Amino acid sequence: MTEYFYPQRMGRIILLAMEEVIGREATHSVLKQASLSAYADKLPEPRSDRTFSFETVSRLLESLEQAYGPQGGRGTALRIGRSCFQYGLREYGSLLGITEMAFRLLPLSTKLQVGARSFAELFNKHTDQRVRVEEKAGKLFWHIERCPLCWERHASEPICQMAVGLLQESLYWLSGGKIFNVEEIACIARGDAACTIMIDQTPIS
Ligand SMILES: [Zn+2]
Repeated sequence: MTEYFYPQRMGRIILLAMEEVIGREATHSVLKQASLSAYADKLPEPRSDRTFSFETVSRLLESLEQAYGPQGGRGTALRIGRSCFQYGLREYGSLLGITEMAFRLLPLSTKLQVGARSFAELFNKHTDQRVRVEEKAGKLFWHIERCPLCWERHASEPICQMAVGLLQESLYWLSGGKIFNVEEIACIARGDAACTIMIDQTPIS
């Protein structure tokens, strides 16, 4: 069976974000539960080699749900996703071009579309995750066609809340503080073809 990976750097971002949201001690117990205690002693390095497996990512999130219950675990994953954006921006911001002044001056709708495409490209180029962006009827659809978050998991409802949080925070940042409706409407873990996150391009506030 083919194995897929994130770069070490992204594993590091996820664990730093988890520590920020639930604290170091709780993160260590989640790592222990997931049989990933080695990362409690030493975080993944900020390197680009793809060696942080999808299985590891998915196991971490599963352990989070075991520790906090399905609802609590997914709520926590959402907050971790938001925090991932902040760490990710430090690591990848210049690569995305979204921290440049020319980008900041674009109108909001253009910013969202350019931002989403450039963000998708980052995953497609630097990780084994596959993302396709689609625009339809005032909405943006973020289709994760190969998803580490729910890798080899089964669920009766969408479980990739970390991606929802990541997108929420990136939209908040791109728009200079606006809130958007972001929702996962399909999930591979539920038997759908992709994990699809739907974004209303008009902010709620
Ligand atoms: Zn997924």
